[in-house]
Amino acid sequence: MIILICLGIEGTAEKTGVGIVDSDGNILAMAGKQLFPEEGGIHPRLAAEHHAEWIPKLIPQAIEESGLSYDDLDLISFSQGPGLGPALRIVATSARSLALSLKKPIIGVNHCIGHVEVGKLDTGAVNPVSLYVSGGNSQVIAYESGRYRIFGETLDIAVGNCLDHFGRETGLGHPGGPVIEKLAKKGSYVDLPYVVKGMDFSFSGLLSAAIREVQKGTPIEDVCFSLQETAFSMLVEVTERALSHTQKDEVMLCGGVSANSRLREMLRTMSEEHGAKFFMPEMKLCGDNGVMIAWLGLLMCNEFGPLELADTGIIQKFRTDEVDIPWIDNSKTYLKLPDDLIAKGAESNIVKSNYLGEKAVIKDRIPKGYRIPEIDNKIRKARCKEEAK
Ligand code: AMP
Ligand code: MG
Repeated sequence: MIILICLGIEGTAEKTGVGIVDSDGNILAMAGKQLFPEEGGIHPRLAAEHHAEWIPKLIPQAIEESGLSYDDLDLISFSQGPGLGPALRIVATSARSLALSLKKPIIGVNHCIGHVEVGKLDTGAVNPVSLYVSGGNSQVIAYESGRYRIFGETLDIAVGNCLDHFGRETGLGHPGGPVIEKLAKKGSYVDLPYVVKGMDFSFSGLLSAAIREVQKGTPIEDVCFSLQETAFSMLVEVTERALSHTQKDEVMLCGGVSANSRLREMLRTMSEEHGAKFFMPEMKLCGDNGVMIAWLGLLMCNEFGPLELADTGIIQKFRTDEVDIPWIDNSKTYLKLPDDLIAKGAESNIVKSNYLGEKAVIKDRIPKGYRIPEIDNKIRKARCKEEAK
């Protein structure tokens, strides 16, 4: 087989990335530069200016790191969406200019799928339920019937955005995630709203409540602890629901918020409670990067060929489930339940038993090891009550 080499350009938000990968999955170069906003959130225009400044510097840097020449490249790939419009336009324009000047084929790919595919490449996971959590996205993604399906997602802001916004509002600075993690280690629980609606989560009410708690004078450590515990319990619960629905036996965490060791611990515990394997790519591949765009470009081009130049426009609201994915082997990785269980749902174990001398089936709403007792008790009590109604 001929080995193909792809250069990928990423720039959906504030990180500019260029990566070079071959079709055997070898990472030949990885260059990146992040914009840190001086105040406020990420301004789309400033992100675009950052890409315009750095893409022309990062491309030669990546070429030099790979030891290749421009002529060795077989394909130019870029993140077509989802993302900030002005940022995406700079990325697409750069990719087109490079492809045209080198006379190479071009392909645009879905950023979220890039996270999942590079995670699988790095960890060896075959068919996982993925929790993708970053500054701009929060999705539970799993393959089903030819596409990556979104099993759950945020109804408003991304979890990373929630942490960052909280950090800015309370003077902890940007990005909030790492500081909140540090302060949370010294905190204890105060009640905050837990919002899982069906298979989706919502963070904006939680964010407002957390900010109000700080304004009320609750110690910042306690609010950080409770914000993390609440937000992450919501994320892990929905991932657990997707896992129990799909019966897959792998769970993968990706996106920049994966840096959080408490989230990792919670997701690992949940996976183990379901007998599933837990994976997380190397941290440098968790955040936005050019490697994931190059790798997905190769996978897509191998199946569908490159794009016509006319089809390389950006897709600002590019959905994960809009892309046909023919390369996944969906036959192997299904969970086997222990013999004593009839079924294991996300919330309960269903077991055969006896009750008052009669054969019975018991639905046991078991405590979850991944969430703190305060949240666990609150949820199980409320849901038991609901069910009885
Ligand atoms: P990304 O959008 O994938 O580049 O990831 C950036 C997001 O990850 C930002 O919202 C950060 O606040 C968040 N993040 C980084 N480190 C941590 C951490 N240790 N805990 C929680 N969130 C984090
Ligand atoms: Mg991302």
